[in-house]
Amino acid sequence: MSDPIRVTVWNEGRHEKTHEEVRRVYPDGIHNAIAQFLKPAGFSVRTATLDEPEHGLTEQVLAETDVLTWWGHMAHGEVKDEIVDRVAKRVLEGMGLIVLHSGHMSKPFLRLMGTSGALKWREANEKERLWIVDPGHPIAAGLPEYFELPHEEMYGEHFDVPAPDQLVFVSWFQGGEVFRSGCCWSRGAGKVFYFRPGHETFPTYFDKNIQQVILNAVKWAAPVNLPAITYWHKPNPLEKLD
Ligand code: ZN
Repeated sequence: MSDPIRVTVWNEGRHEKTHEEVRRVYPDGIHNAIAQFLKPAGFSVRTATLDEPEHGLTEQVLAETDVLTWWGHMAHGEVKDEIVDRVAKRVLEGMGLIVLHSGHMSKPFLRLMGTSGALKWREANEKERLWIVDPGHPIAAGLPEYFELPHEEMYGEHFDVPAPDQLVFVSWFQGGEVFRSGCCWSRGAGKVFYFRPGHETFPTYFDKNIQQVILNAVKWAAPVNLPAITYWHKPNPLEKLD
């Protein structure tokens, strides 16, 4: 058996401290709710949060991370640029990055996308229906044709991101908007997956289908471990030149 995929579940962890409404849904924090369903799947899981030294993302932690998941919202600006540099560099080297919900405005995601990440939003506790639009994609494995979340925040198009390399889910909301809610990109040797649901006042991360998507995404985003590529000057040709 190959070594387990090493996952670091990163969470800003502020809403859970400051909002009783959020603490009721995620008493141990969103990061622990996510870690709880990743561990039984056989991954090696650790968590990290904003208020730890270096936001819990030291050089060593990132060197030992195959896939990083990212949930942040109210404190994107507090994430130090040197840590953003470090995360982005690791993605280009091959680390997978799964950006969740309000992470669409996180510094690492915007750095890797190069766009504003902007979208339309509304908090009206409305129904979200997620449709699989790429049924052969590994992130769709084991899921029904569509599934629903009874209460979620609405995110609507236009979502200002580069056109995804693969689009796995499209969401429809009760209010009429649609959204590209499961998007895949390659960046360097790394893979990035953005997954929309996960507003902090709803028990979205306890939903079985949502958990299945994130489990699938971890497997998809894990590095394939090719040798590191050397760039720049290449004085020695493969074939003899006259
Ligand atoms: Zn939200």
